[in-house]
Amino acid sequence: MDIKYVSTRGDKEKISASQAILRGIAPDGGLYVPENLPKLDKSLEELSALNYREIAYEVMKLFFTDFSEEELKSCIASAYDEKFDTEEIVPLKEADGLTYIELFHGPTLAFKDMALSILPYLMVTSAKKNGLKEKIIILTATSGDTGKAALAGFADVEGTGIIVFYPKDGVSPFQKQQMITEKGKNTSVIAIEGNFDDAQNGVKAIFNDEKLAAELKEKGYVFSSANSINIGRLVPQIVYYVYAYVKMLKSGKIAKGDKIDVCVPTGNFGNILAASFAKEIGLPIDKLICASNTNKVLYDFFKSGTYDRQREFVLTISPSMDILISSNLERLIYRLCGNNAEKNAEFMKRLTNEGKYTIDETMKHALVDFEAGFATEDDTISTIKAVFEKTGYVIDTHTAVAAFVANEYRNKNISGNRILIASTASPFKFAGSVLKALEGDKEGNITSEWDKISELEKLSDNKLPKAALEIKDAVVRHKEVCGKNEMKQVVKDKILTGVIA
Ligand SMILES: *Cc1c(COP(=O)(O)O)cnc(C)c1O
Repeated sequence: MDIKYVSTRGDKEKISASQAILRGIAPDGGLYVPENLPKLDKSLEELSALNYREIAYEVMKLFFTDFSEEELKSCIASAYDEKFDTEEIVPLKEADGLTYIELFHGPTLAFKDMALSILPYLMVTSAKKNGLKEKIIILTATSGDTGKAALAGFADVEGTGIIVFYPKDGVSPFQKQQMITEKGKNTSVIAIEGNFDDAQNGVKAIFNDEKLAAELKEKGYVFSSANSINIGRLVPQIVYYVYAYVKMLKSGKIAKGDKIDVCVPTGNFGNILAASFAKEIGLPIDKLICASNTNKVLYDFFKSGTYDRQREFVLTISPSMDILISSNLERLIYRLCGNNAEKNAEFMKRLTNEGKYTIDETMKHALVDFEAGFATEDDTISTIKAVFEKTGYVIDTHTAVAAFVANEYRNKNISGNRILIASTASPFKFAGSVLKALEGDKEGNITSEWDKISELEKLSDNKLPKAALEIKDAVVRHKEVCGKNEMKQVVKDKILTGVIA
């Protein structure tokens, strides 16, 4: 089946997967979605015999139908290799009756690597397939993890350049160190005076600026996006849900026909949306449990049907989830509207103009697949401590939000399904907060991030990944800061003075 992609906002043009990957966002500001969803064409038993790369092919071939087998397999082989510090790519761990899929064994220690290690290959292949003459400029707003994962993926990739904006005070010390020490010659990293939503809005405004696009095109450049709105990021994230299910099946944790619930620590709604796609293509998932931190705009949406971003933005110990505008939710809203782009566009307009929208009753009923919960800062901390004391397993602050919500859900014992938790970051990446959770105020005596990391290493018996050691004494290469209204000018300057590989 040949799958075409359409915008969630009404643009009638139908484009191929490779074109959608190149564009990132649709010209009308909408997100690309597959016109219809494919189904897995191998049985779960058959899939359970395959390794990660093979399952990646079986899933991606269903969506990226204009890629040849050779092209897709080559992208997959380049992405999921020794960059990951474990042969399995995404190992499964058991702790306290929950199954964790560790999505953080890539080069930047967070789950963004799962998609961003393949996106550059998909993009370069797409450029070739479509005879693109221009160089591709990747523009990215990051709440911490996307930035470094995108930088790592695109560093020195021929014909591309990447510019990353991060909120100056909104990322962890480790995340910041990872980004400002990036060595790729085609990379720029800039702090903005603002929060993640400011960064994301700034990037969106640049994407929607037709005048700027025309001006740059004349000079030989086009923009694309590495944010999770790019369909080239969403589809690779479906893979690990399929992988997790069939490995649980193979190891006997679940039996044939069993359904599982999936609990995902959620920010931009990309990861959990991928889980819902996994369900749509035939994976036996029952509930999709959306776990929020104190910025619980999604929790409130699932409870009330009103999405309201007008609220105080809180900086938490799970910064990669500190988001008030969850971009990928638009793809769900579109689906809830019965794929009615005009109706969806109306909601999105309201979100921009009034800061909120309310879905109707029919749409609310269509939300049955979703459950929602949230964890306060205290809940997050006590969960890290409790899981460690009970099992010796150390989880990071984001995963702990999901673990808390999953436990709450389990205590209600609604279905008795096994719960799979998307474990999204290595605890070392958020060493300060994790250590504080484990040791209480003792952590206050340790001031250097690296001392905290070594303390955590001793305490937890986990080895510090090589990728963490590498950035420790690396030279800082990116020191620029700009106002949130200066982003466009900065982008123009960077491109015209040459940030290109
Ligand atoms: C990005 C991120 C999240 C949130 O994922 P979304 O796809 O944006 O919902 C959660 N945890 C970590 C560690 C992340 O980096």
